[in-house]
Formats: sequence, structure tokens, C-alpha cells
Amino acid sequence: MSPYASGPMPIRQLPPQLIDQIAAGEVIERPASVLKELVENSLDAGATRIELEIEGGGLRQCLVRDDGGGIPREELALALSRHATSKISSLEDLERVGTLGFRGEALPSIASVSRLAVTSRARGGDGACRVEADGGRLAEPAPAAHPVGTTVMVRDLFFNTPARRRFMRSERTEFGHLERNARRLALSRFETGFRLAREGKVVFDLRPATDAAGRLRRVAEVCGEGFAQHALAFDRSAADLRLSGWLGLPTFSRAQPDLQYFFVNGRLVRDRLVTHALRQAYADVLFHGRHPAYVLYLEMDPTLVDVNAHPTKHEVRFRDARSMHGFLHQVAEQSLARTRPAAAPAAGAAAGP
Ligand code: ADP
Ligand code: MG
Repeated sequence: MSPYASGPMPIRQLPPQLIDQIAAGEVIERPASVLKELVENSLDAGATRIELEIEGGGLRQCLVRDDGGGIPREELALALSRHATSKISSLEDLERVGTLGFRGEALPSIASVSRLAVTSRARGGDGACRVEADGGRLAEPAPAAHPVGTTVMVRDLFFNTPARRRFMRSERTEFGHLERNARRLALSRFETGFRLAREGKVVFDLRPATDAAGRLRRVAEVCGEGFAQHALAFDRSAADLRLSGWLGLPTFSRAQPDLQYFFVNGRLVRDRLVTHALRQAYADVLFHGRHPAYVLYLEMDPTLVDVNAHPTKHEVRFRDARSMHGFLHQVAEQSLARTRPAAAPAAGAAAGP
């Protein structure tokens, strides 16, 4: 007896566009995800300046322009095909990947659910080239005008996937998600300038930050003056690990866990182990029910952390989870202890950097 009410369909290979749309279902949840993927590509390309031009909450237009290394003319169409990447070529590469991307899925996924145009000029190349795709159908690449770098324009997101389109909220809400992503990305790379414009009006314009004062200014712009003024800057290394950033002082706790950023080798991750270690470090200094605020950067040997745990790469797996928990907890707790009055000595308070 067939388990299918209407009889089984024969097994068949899915058409490429549908495969891309299925992949898009996973990584392209909303306009904010488009922005994240495109900006990550710009960062991987070594951009020093990234400009974002958003219209209609990112549904009508999400444009990302960078001054990175660009895409050679002969590779432009390939960049839009599935599982095509310049970032890894072997399992060894994957296991020590240092770029934000490596799956070769973002551009084809986005292209399959939008009208997309990529214009790029490679450094050292002899001119710019443009390729357009409409719902994943590629046109022939054509010569274009563009300085060294890349502009990706995504229009009419989900125009051909009405079910997904129906899940979109108001333009305002979608823009809110998008702006939050843009700010987080700006926290991940201080040396890169970021400008966000909405319907032609500049929302923020962050200049590259190359010194401590500049970095603190960016933190203030992204996380608010309150946090910047009540945060402890620190930088600690142990063995192959380096943890640095800003720990919100106990006087700046939050009612929600909404100001907790943790970057692993430049990638923003949400990780329960990390949250737990930090919550423990703050346990003695925060009132019950309050949440700590922090912006932390962990640098570590990429072979000791697996970033290929989830398609959106929000999650990572530490090879040695126990000692990672211990390290995070200890560094945070000791750094916080040094901010307390001398009358309350904390065990093992270490000499500062
Ligand atoms: P991935 O980032 O996983 O490699 P993508 O689909 O996001 O996959 O991009 C495919 C390829 O296109 C990248 O590997 C890169 O070579 C190229 N590319 C995409 N965006 C840019 C950009 N802004 N600048 C330079 N190259 C880019
Ligand atoms: Mg990518």
C-alpha cells in the first residue's frame, strides 16, 4: 500500500532554480538576511568602505556597494551559481576557514527569489562587468562602469515566492531588523567604514576606526552612549586565546539580554555556552533578573572552532567547550572584580593588561 494518498510521484531531480529557492528558505529569511550575506561578502573582499542603500524596508531595494577586491569578469556568472566559491577548495580549507562565507550559496539563493544585479570591477582588471538575474534566470554579462569593487543590487525580494512574501512585516519593522544587522556588522570590523541610507537619507555614517578612541566612538554610536560610558575596556590573552572588548559595568545592566555581542574571529555568534559563562561571571555583581551588557571579541585558532554548524552560521562549536567556558568565565569575572572597591577582594584577581 502506498503511504501517499494520491499516489507517489516518481523520484526526480529538482530543477536548479527550485534547489536555490529551497536553500534561500534557510538563509534568506527577510531583507535583513540579504544585507548580512552581502555585507559579509564585502568584508571577505577586503572592503574599507561599505555603503548600503535601502528602500521599502529592503524589500523593494537592498543595495550594497563596496571598494573590495571585486570579481573578475570571467567569474561573474559563476559567482551566481550554486556551490561556487573562491573561499575554500578543500576540506582542510573548510576546517581552518577564516572568511565569513564559504558555502557558495548566498548569491544564487538571493538571485532565485529576487531581481538581482551584480556590477563589479576586479583590482587589476581592465574594466567593469555587470550580470543580472531575474528570479534566478541569468542574462549574459555585459560591460559596465564601476570603480574597483562591487555593487550588488537586490530588488523585489520574494516577488516570485508569495508564501515567503506574506511573512514579511511592515516596511518599518523590516527596516528595523535590517538596521540592527547593519550595526552589528559595523561592530565586527572597526577598520571598515559603513554608511546606511534609507530612501536616500543617511541613517548612519561610521568612519573607519583605527585607534582606541575611534573604536569607543563606534561602540557608542552602535550601542549607545550609556553603554560606552559604563563599560570596561579590556584585552586578555592566554595560550592561543585572546578575549578583548567591553564589559558593561554592573551599574549598566539591562532588563533584557539585548546588548550582548560576541564575535568569534570576526563572526557574530549566538552561543549558549558563551551566554552561560558570561552570566556566571556577572552572577555576583548583578541583581537577580538583570542582564549584563557586553561586546566581546574572541580570537582563536580557527581549527579549534567549527563554524559549519548551521547554514546561517550564527552558531559555532568549540572543540574544547569546557576549557572555553572556563576561560570566558574567568577572564570576565577577573576583569569585573578589578572594578570593585578594594574592600571587596575577589579571589584570583589578575594583574591587568
Ligand atoms: P561565499 O561567500 O560562501 O563564497 P556567495 O554566494 O556569497 O558565496 O559568493 C560567491 C562568490 O562570489 C564569493 O566566493 C566571491 O568570490 C564572490 N563575491 C561575492 N560578493 C563579492 C564582493 N562583494 N566582492 C568580491 N567578490 C564577491
Ligand atoms: Mg557569501
